[in-house]
Amino acid sequence: MSFSTLGLSNEIIRAVTERGYTEPTPIQMQAIPAVLSGSDLLAGAQTGTGKTASFTLPLLHRLSSDKSKGTSNGYPQIRALILTPTRELAAQVEESVREYGKYLQLNSLVMFGGVSINLQKQRLKGRVDILVATPGRLLDHVQQGTVNLSHIEVLVLDEADRMLDMGFINDIRRILSLLPKKRQNLLFFATFSDKIKALAAGLLNHPTMIEV
Ligand code: AMP
Repeated sequence: MSFSTLGLSNEIIRAVTERGYTEPTPIQMQAIPAVLSGSDLLAGAQTGTGKTASFTLPLLHRLSSDKSKGTSNGYPQIRALILTPTRELAAQVEESVREYGKYLQLNSLVMFGGVSINLQKQRLKGRVDILVATPGRLLDHVQQGTVNLSHIEVLVLDEADRMLDMGFINDIRRILSLLPKKRQNLLFFATFSDKIKALAAGLLNHPTMIEV
């Protein structure tokens, strides 16, 4: 199987080919068509399986193939939100988004705590299509009115089990309450638990389930 048979655009295939990927990993083979179809996803995968590309590639494809969205009253809107438990993961995911999307006209922004909020505020005034964030810093921006989540089309919870272990459940619930009801939800975890089950039950609509 190749990336092109999965239905990804030439711009995305060019970027992954330059990165040195010759064929999709098992999770990518399963997740990419599901995400492209618009389905919600519940995916169990460890780091190292290629899970980041399994959601960033189809996410980039979807956003770039529907350019009609992404503005409201002429103002650019954030269309995808990726939440991660740690700064390191947020930075890594956003770097992947930028690299895989380098031939697309989409802008991404990463935000996490521990660094100046003012620079992030400045960046939020420009066009941001894809926001990668840790929950706490995102809520700081919500509180200060510097981020608008009312046009999110796709939500990704990466390493959701770790976010729950770190006590982010209330932050996540608050963030969920700010998102439009109609959206696609992708939930990734490494270890299944009752907490993940409960989160998935409240969040996902007839999800495609994948375990690698
Ligand atoms: P991840 O599981 O997302 O942390 O990815 C683990 C590593 O696999 C990263 O270094 C990726 O660059 C690499 N990777 C992801 N997809 C592929 C692929 N299809 N072929 C080769 N390497 C890949």
